[in-house]
Amino acid sequence: MDAMIITDLLTGRNIRGYYKEYNKTQWFSRDEIENYQLNKLKLLIKHCYCNVPYYTKIMKDGGIDPNNVRDIAYVKQFPILSKEIIKDNYDLFTPINSNNIRGMKTSQTSGTTGSILFKRNDANTRSSVWGSYRRFYDWMGISPGGKVLSYWGGHVINHSYVDSVKKLIANYAQNNIGFDAYDPRDTVIEKIAKTLSKQNVQLIRSYPQALYGLALKLKEKGWTFRVKAILTTSEPLMPQQRSLFKEVFGADTFDQYGCGEIGAIAYECPVHNGLHVTEERVLVEVNSERNLIITDLDNFSMPFIRYWNADEAEVSDLECSCGRKSKVLKSILGRTCDYLIVRDGQRLHWGFFLHLLFDTNIAVNRNFVKFQVVQDSRESLLFRTVSDPLSEDDKKLLTQKISERMGEMKVSFILEQDIENSKSGKYRPVINKLL
Ligand SMILES: [Zn+2]
Repeated sequence: MDAMIITDLLTGRNIRGYYKEYNKTQWFSRDEIENYQLNKLKLLIKHCYCNVPYYTKIMKDGGIDPNNVRDIAYVKQFPILSKEIIKDNYDLFTPINSNNIRGMKTSQTSGTTGSILFKRNDANTRSSVWGSYRRFYDWMGISPGGKVLSYWGGHVINHSYVDSVKKLIANYAQNNIGFDAYDPRDTVIEKIAKTLSKQNVQLIRSYPQALYGLALKLKEKGWTFRVKAILTTSEPLMPQQRSLFKEVFGADTFDQYGCGEIGAIAYECPVHNGLHVTEERVLVEVNSERNLIITDLDNFSMPFIRYWNADEAEVSDLECSCGRKSKVLKSILGRTCDYLIVRDGQRLHWGFFLHLLFDTNIAVNRNFVKFQVVQDSRESLLFRTVSDPLSEDDKKLLTQKISERMGEMKVSFILEQDIENSKSGKYRPVINKLL
């Protein structure tokens, strides 16, 4: 996301425009919110009918008339859109008026299944996302120039020099100091502590599990800090984690939810009672099985209407006491939070493997559809893949990188036709039999 800021400097005026607008719309009544959504939905459906072959066909086949959109519930005339449908019909999602859509960009998204999906967005969509993000910074009490410490799962393999320079520029522009959450060395902990105590850091951004591990180590050393806010994303955030963060970093935690295909979807407000859906940007439905179904109201370059992203959530029945009337997601259940145990007893988040597969290009080169890592002992792993056969060099490289991170590991690779879901129907990228 950081690099996007740089490339979007040209559209900076749009980000500011959306930010200003969303500052007003956040206080809209339910009627006003739905009216705002309806206006965007009408434009989106009309665009899809006229310009996006996949939608033209299903609308004609299903008798969906772009002139009949009178309320937002009309969206339910559309069938559910899955990742599989997009993959099978990828070309039909390209608008025939692409030349008129400003700043179209294609990138990869991997999601939790490790399968690759190419997504597209445009300058307008990105401006809207970043406008909502700016508003979220206000909710956290963070000023735009404030110093940020990021503790993400970094890259497993060093990227080329050009990439590192680009990253540096992105970091500089955003006043961001990045640390690699997969780097197990103690010196990293000391560097982070030094940064936190000397550099007036306002915000820490991380994954709950990674930050929890860091906070435990800092607490062990008796070190505490004072930042303004913590931002977490990608995994469920546990109450115990919140309270440890408060104890060690002296700040409240604000959770954020999004997915690669659509970007940021919901943000926690200062009441900390759930995540407000950015309803100006997305229409969210939750069906009886708690599946999240999302319509991106902004993206004309690759429209997602009723997209099922395989996450689950619960919408709160109560209005938030902050006064904002937007829907609140109480819990997001689908964010896979499994982990493995490293030989010295530490936890390793499954995201390590996802990064490893993409950083080595093996995911792309071998057409990965799915993977699953099964840990059956402290010394051995099964690496199940639904992919083209891995070469001996691939296996050697993966085993070497895994052993560097986890301690000497025996890794057995198994080529599968499919990888079954768990009893609850969810795909699990890692299974830990030691737990
Ligand atoms: Zn609220």
